[in-house]
Amino acid sequence: PRDDLAASLRSMDGASYGRYRSLSGRWSVASLDLEVLRVQADPFAPPSRVRMTVHDAGLPADLWSTADRRRALASFLLRGLRRSLRGTPVNVDAGGPEVLERSAGTVRDDGVVVLEVGVPFPGPKRRILGREAATLLGETLPTAVREAVHSADHAAARAFVETVEDAVALRAALADRGLVGFVADGAVLPRRSGVDDRPLDGATPFAGPDERSVTLEAPNAGPVRGMGVPEGVTLIVGGGYHGKSTLLRALEAGVYDHVPGDGREQVVTRPDAVKLRAEDGRAVTHDDVSAFVAHLPSGEPTDDFSTTNASGSTSQAASTVEAVEAGADVLLIDEDTSATNMMIRDARMQQLIATEPLVPFVERVRPLHAEHGVSTVLVMGGSGDYLGVADTVIMMDAYRASDVTARAHEIAASGPSRTVEHTGFPAVTPRVVDPASLDPTAKGKRRVTARGRDRLSFGEDDVDLSAVEQIADRSQVAGIGRALALLGDGVLDGTITLAEGLDLLDAELERRGTEALLDGRSEDVARPRRHEVAAALNRLRSLRLRP
Ligand code: ADP
Ligand code: MG
Repeated sequence: PRDDLAASLRSMDGASYGRYRSLSGRWSVASLDLEVLRVQADPFAPPSRVRMTVHDAGLPADLWSTADRRRALASFLLRGLRRSLRGTPVNVDAGGPEVLERSAGTVRDDGVVVLEVGVPFPGPKRRILGREAATLLGETLPTAVREAVHSADHAAARAFVETVEDAVALRAALADRGLVGFVADGAVLPRRSGVDDRPLDGATPFAGPDERSVTLEAPNAGPVRGMGVPEGVTLIVGGGYHGKSTLLRALEAGVYDHVPGDGREQVVTRPDAVKLRAEDGRAVTHDDVSAFVAHLPSGEPTDDFSTTNASGSTSQAASTVEAVEAGADVLLIDEDTSATNMMIRDARMQQLIATEPLVPFVERVRPLHAEHGVSTVLVMGGSGDYLGVADTVIMMDAYRASDVTARAHEIAASGPSRTVEHTGFPAVTPRVVDPASLDPTAKGKRRVTARGRDRLSFGEDDVDLSAVEQIADRSQVAGIGRALALLGDGVLDGTITLAEGLDLLDAELERRGTEALLDGRSEDVARPRRHEVAAALNRLRSLRLRP
């Protein structure tokens, strides 16, 4: 590595912007091993990419002794680096409240810390601002790394690491206890607003009902008491504005670990829990939706259903079978974002309409669990149709949870009831994707770009992900895009099923981390779940199947 970065930059002052390219490569700056991975072509392009490898981080070995601890520690250090660089133009992808595996920061199993940041190389008039660049790379960056890594608060780092490790353990304990989710007493579920993920000030802390109370063991916090959400069919009922959706959203987020202070540190959900919703307008490619759609007015087959413009109900039916295909074992559904005709069809409407093609979810929800082991947690304040099919009914009343299962079953047994027309849940036919349809290459250029939290550009396709609610952030969208490309380029071979391909993808991500998604290049990506990868794949308008 060269050791004259600052001097080189100063000597380039006033030169044309393109000369920045000569900085590519490794440098030694203070005690820092700094590598310029990519230089932006002009001042308006995405920032240049700089990697800093810290060999002498001096962090206690117990903080990086397991993969989960390393992920947590990296997240902690990235957050510190972001804080240290606040007010500078350097971009640090430390993420939101979720603790995800990120390409921006890793701790290797030998304790070496690797950080990657975006640095906009200064040169507003396409002339190099050498002195400014020298300060930025030669002083600002090393100082920030010293603050964030060498002077890291070890006690805070340990608390962070232990919080994440506890969440992992609580989540891992769910299946053995027959639970799909767990909400610790005292958890703070509501957020400040739809666009502000921080905990709501003055919120009523969660308190679970005695009937549903369980105690799980966390390695660091010890026994944690809270509400267990059991397998099977769970209904969340209650008056409007009493906290039903907030509870469900906390369960949606519980597939991820959260930072200390988030309020949801001890709210965990099975890793394969998937939020579903209606999404009219989405594309559907060869889905077997016959479980929910008996026939279509157009006469199209419903076990091989494609459309470029699904309705609310068919989109939700498609998303449901797709989730099951990808391996979901818990479905999370909110009445607020569901297609009513997909969810319910009451006794009176049954009498009036004899030819309804839609099979409401209420008829499939039990067989889905009995025959396929897929549980459902459903928010439903507006219809009593589900009271009879629910194993557990939790009522939210002024943000407090109580168990009203017995009363709900009494009411269901005595009241007027709908006629059950369908039994069982037909097996979903596994699909084999044509890998060539997952090739984002256009004119020799790879084009996979995250356009924020809600949109992915994949080749010629523009994928709307706004209804895929468990995506954490933009970097995860970038990870999803890369994962799709990886599926198309070597994982799927045109013979294995999509689910088998997702298994291989998971194994590769487990083995190589975000590195598997980057293919030697460098960019801010966060590791996605298989479910969000599948959701994006299923929304690709260019998706084709092998016959
Ligand atoms: P529902 O789905 O039952 O209509 P929501 O979950 O949407 O109700 O919650 C309604 C409002 O109450 C939201 O603004 C939410 O932030 C707030 N809220 C939810 N839970 C709590 C709580 N534990 N403490 C304070 N406010 C809460
Ligand atoms: Mg609601």
